[in-house]
Amino acid sequence: MTTAAIIVAAGRGTRAGGDIPKQWQIIGGRPVAAHAMARFANHPAITQLILVLHPDDIDTPLWPREPAATIVAGGATRAASVQAGLAAAGPDIDTVLIHDAARPLISDAVIDRVLAALATSVGAAPALVVTDTLWHGAEATVTGVQDRTGLFRAQTPQGFHLGPLREAHAASTGQETDDVAVARAAGLDVSIVAGDEANIKITTPEDFVRAAELMRHTMTSLPDIRCGNGYDVHRFGPGDHVWLCGVQIPHTRSLQGHSDADVGMHAVTDAIYGALGKGDIGQHFPPSDPQWKGAASHIFLEHAVALAASQGFSIGNADCTLVCEYPKIGPHHDAMKAVMSAYMGIESDRISVKATTSEKLGFTGREEGIAAIATVTLIKP
Ligand code: MG
Repeated sequence: MTTAAIIVAAGRGTRAGGDIPKQWQIIGGRPVAAHAMARFANHPAITQLILVLHPDDIDTPLWPREPAATIVAGGATRAASVQAGLAAAGPDIDTVLIHDAARPLISDAVIDRVLAALATSVGAAPALVVTDTLWHGAEATVTGVQDRTGLFRAQTPQGFHLGPLREAHAASTGQETDDVAVARAAGLDVSIVAGDEANIKITTPEDFVRAAELMRHTMTSLPDIRCGNGYDVHRFGPGDHVWLCGVQIPHTRSLQGHSDADVGMHAVTDAIYGALGKGDIGQHFPPSDPQWKGAASHIFLEHAVALAASQGFSIGNADCTLVCEYPKIGPHHDAMKAVMSAYMGIESDRISVKATTSEKLGFTGREEGIAAIATVTLIKP
């Protein structure tokens, strides 16, 4: 089964308020529609993402360019917009999931349930059993009670085998309010799977408040971003070279320390441990342990990177400042970035190594030692 997700974002959303259509208003740091786009794009079963836009929106910066999607102009009705999306499905696609852009809190679990049902059913859609009592009313007076037995609240994504749904749309009146209605009008059976109370459709201004609150609680769409800092100092002693950010630099003295005393690499390593809340180099590699005497500092850095990866974090960037009068760092800057990026497994343009003097003030100014300070960000999607 190869599946395309069609995000229908061609409506104007006038009931939600605001100066722009509701699907492009910002919630949880990005446009409403971007949340669902990311959810489907990241789902392993989805091989094509199709975004149906209002023709007026196509040349605007409103809609997210990431994740990559097949862009389609919608039609005058919802049915026409869905038909445009169906026409854009690639030749290898055999099932489609059609989703409202205004449902940003769609979960993998609901997507999985729809996909599972499509293995045995031509159509499947999530819904919730109606539990509130339903009234008929007129002029603010209750005129009767509706039996709620067998009533469901429909949600999306609504999933179908592509061929039968295309035929159903071709035969439709264009007046149906969703794809389940189109499918049923064509005689197709549609299975009901369990929906999700959080999978709300943003319709009114109050819905934005509720959706933002749900996002804070579920964290379904927000990455975990951590920041850590590191600071280190090593004193000068006898010798003819220093190690700084993994590069050996000839000098009139050497930095003293239990390991190779690479003060820059130590600061970056401690920043990673700091972002993880996992102590520092001394805790993981005690100076009292003779096996680390003279150790190459990349052992520490690689340990911190692996610890971050084991917890699902990748490194966003690292910024390290070396504080010394000499040696001059500039000639070695590119080599340091290359070495650090290799040990950290990230592109060198995510690493910064800078240097400053301290205007001959303090211990670094008197050339008694070198200090380093570093900041690192970690990201878990
Ligand atoms: Mg150190």
